[in-house]
Amino acid sequence: MSIRSTIALFVIAASAACVTGMRGTVGTSASAEPTPAGTKTIREITYIEGEFDGKAITRSDAEWKALLTPLEYNIMRKAGTEAPYSGPLNNNHKHGEYYCAACGLVLFTSDTKFESGTGWPSFYQPAFKNNVVEISDTSLPGEERTEILCARCHAHLGHVFDDGPKPTGLRYCMNSAALRFRETPDTDSK
Ligand SMILES: [Zn+2]
Repeated sequence: MSIRSTIALFVIAASAACVTGMRGTVGTSASAEPTPAGTKTIREITYIEGEFDGKAITRSDAEWKALLTPLEYNIMRKAGTEAPYSGPLNNNHKHGEYYCAACGLVLFTSDTKFESGTGWPSFYQPAFKNNVVEISDTSLPGEERTEILCARCHAHLGHVFDDGPKPTGLRYCMNSAALRFRETPDTDSK
């Protein structure tokens, strides 16, 4: 059962030149210049906890393009890959959960994140097996990889490899831009 919990607002800078400073947006106003028309500055994400309930969502390509930043769209809808070490979550060591940046479904927890040295956020297992989908990816010549999608919105997240650490031996190699992190108190510590 999914629990639609907190609604959070994200300030998304659509480009490096776009600095927010409009209509009540919380944040720094480095410039008084008006935001260019059509620039996305805020996106609402509903975090969905728990195991995927089987109710997938579908949007047209045009809808995804309008909703996501160009980087997110390229990765999540066009199976792109961000440059290694470029994503903010690669070196994130805080305690919390990682959600799909497109639809908000919980995907991974910090408890299973490990240092892979690849430059991409890496986990040894998903938060729930049913929250991700595996499909065969033969886009690289001579190499068959296993692509990982969000089970709810079918966004491309990254790939899984079998050279990960114990206990699973798996390495879920994810794009930082496909994830949203939400910090939670470390109540599991013993
Ligand atoms: Zn999703």
